[in-house]
Amino acid sequence: MYAQVLLANPARSTRKAFSYSIPDHLKDKLQVGQQIIVPFGKRKDVGFVVGFAETAEVEKTRDILEIVSEEPLFDEKQLELAKWIAEYYCCFLMAAVKLVIGTRFENSNIRKSDIQASRISAVEYQISNIVPKLTFYQEKALVEINKAIEKKQADTFLLYGVTGSGKTEVYMRAIAKVLELGRSAIVLVPEIALTPQMVERFTGRFGEQVAVVHSQMTLKQRRVAGDLVAKGEKRIVLGARSALFVPVKDLGIVVIDEEFEGSYKQDKSPRYHAREVAKKMGELHSAILVLGSATPSIETFYETSNRLSLPERINQQPLPEVEIVDMRKEKAGVLSRRLKELLVETFEKKEQAILFLNRRGFFTFLLCQMCGFSFACPTCSVSLAYDHKDKKLRCGHCEYKIDPPRSCPQCNSESLRFFGTGTQRIEQEVSKLLPKARIMRYDRDTVSKRGSHEKLFRIFSDGEADILIGTQMIAKGLDIPSVTLVGAVSADIGLQFPDFRSAETTFHLLTQVAGRAGRHHLPGKVVIQSYTPDHYAIQAAAKHDYESFYNQELKYREELGYPPFSKLITLVISGKNGAKASKIADDLAVFLRNGLGTGDSGLGTRVLGPVPAVLSKIRGDYRYRILLKGKNLPAMRELVCETMEKTVVPTDVRVIIDVEPMGMM
Ligand code: ADP
Ligand code: ZN
Ligand code: ZN
Repeated sequence: MYAQVLLANPARSTRKAFSYSIPDHLKDKLQVGQQIIVPFGKRKDVGFVVGFAETAEVEKTRDILEIVSEEPLFDEKQLELAKWIAEYYCCFLMAAVKLVIGTRFENSNIRKSDIQASRISAVEYQISNIVPKLTFYQEKALVEINKAIEKKQADTFLLYGVTGSGKTEVYMRAIAKVLELGRSAIVLVPEIALTPQMVERFTGRFGEQVAVVHSQMTLKQRRVAGDLVAKGEKRIVLGARSALFVPVKDLGIVVIDEEFEGSYKQDKSPRYHAREVAKKMGELHSAILVLGSATPSIETFYETSNRLSLPERINQQPLPEVEIVDMRKEKAGVLSRRLKELLVETFEKKEQAILFLNRRGFFTFLLCQMCGFSFACPTCSVSLAYDHKDKKLRCGHCEYKIDPPRSCPQCNSESLRFFGTGTQRIEQEVSKLLPKARIMRYDRDTVSKRGSHEKLFRIFSDGEADILIGTQMIAKGLDIPSVTLVGAVSADIGLQFPDFRSAETTFHLLTQVAGRAGRHHLPGKVVIQSYTPDHYAIQAAAKHDYESFYNQELKYREELGYPPFSKLITLVISGKNGAKASKIADDLAVFLRNGLGTGDSGLGTRVLGPVPAVLSKIRGDYRYRILLKGKNLPAMRELVCETMEKTVVPTDVRVIIDVEPMGMM
């Protein structure tokens, strides 16, 4: 009998496990999931037992030296999950194992006092026994969900309803059902710091049974929480993406709130999406998955047949009124006359306003100020980004590029302008308009310091500033009674993003922004400034109409063969030596294309590129991108994995494989 061992050292993390023989004194002790020490070459290495076999793949095997953790760090199901992640996302098994075992990796002793400390903090919450009577629609949704919970079916549900329609109440009832059956729950939110209300409601309802995990916790605190959860002392885990891997006892339900958020996809290896991993966990544990949103991702809405709607707001509060301002009719500056007028009015009434910029403009595009025309690639239909270096407009997906013309191809005017506005620019204009107003800027620069996120939130909600200017980060979670005006200053920037999801992201952001105004007794007003006011994403967001957006967007996706009608994998090849990286990218593309001829991946799969990535140079690294587009994802993955194994990549060139990428930059 031999043990199969996965080595923890990244340099030794090949795709396969090594065989080791088991010395007599360890024969009865060795288990899958144990951390062990093995000899490797002339050194000792840390590894994990991932299985046993009658035969070894080499003639001479060496003995395992010792067991580090008697208690296994993962079980068979977690190992299966890790194997699935490694295969699905084309990453090393060790990377997936590390992800799945999370904080348990580093072996350390947890003292009794740590456990006590964490218990004390948990009872500070007031348990509220007030449980509202469900509405007709909530009841209907819950009946369906409970059926699946009772039958232990691994079903996926979409709970579809606007903010305030009672989704959280349904999550909590479903979880109560799961607890009744002695099982556990995981609840994921996009960012735990942005959802204090959610935390309060869960701890208010379930008290000590809730383990809240967040990034500010120390490793030790997280480990303690994980320990209590593993023992079944806490039955509900609430946190961001990584909370998925807190080892609950007998998982019965996973809830993912606002599943369309980009934060559910990890941007380093393993590049997993929490939704896909949760589905797999559902299968492994016979647990259900509930996705809740007013604006689900196109893929989720398309793929989830179990749609449970909550069509009404609980308090019947109307959604705020949205005005679209046509920026083609404005003369100068970034603020329209209408928005200025409303800003002055709001300030005089001593109410608060939020001005929202779609994103920090880190790429530039060319736009006609007369007719709103912008430049797109004729084959990929994504916006062309302006490359400052070679002074060309380029497609981020294929080789297409053009010289920026002098006049607009649509209206012949010479009002073409480069765009890429930042928060500072808006701040200048606002302080010119309202010199007495207290203005606060909120972007990645001002909140980069740890904890200052909440601080800035509090300053504004305490009324210490009149106008808040910020990027998309302010679109989420902010719930301030005296905010009565919200202005989306540059709604178009999002639409110009060289990414097939640009309309979808813009729609999501605008709907969220629109939801920030007039949430309480004061009526709210929302202004969307746009150079393309007729664009369906803008129109639908202004009407709070997800389904009309969905229908149009789905047509566009189908015409161009984007997800959900195809699957994508991107390879980003980068390195300080641009020529070298470019050469590897070329080679990879050739190998991939050659591989297409044979096998199932040939069925309609296309290899696009390599092209310089939209962000063609980051921190001195030149970046090239290859895009695979096809219908058969497993075959595409296999092709990529095989190609990578055949290709010798020099150590100063990096290849990132992203399966089902969220961004195309
Ligand atoms: P969502 O999660 O969709 O934003 P919530 O579940 O937070 O909606 O509900 C919105 C508000 O209505 C909350 O304050 C909640 O306590 C309350 N609420 C939810 N369900 C009911 C109900 N059946 N009866 C009365 N109030 C409810
Ligand atoms: Zn024009
Ligand atoms: Zn193109």
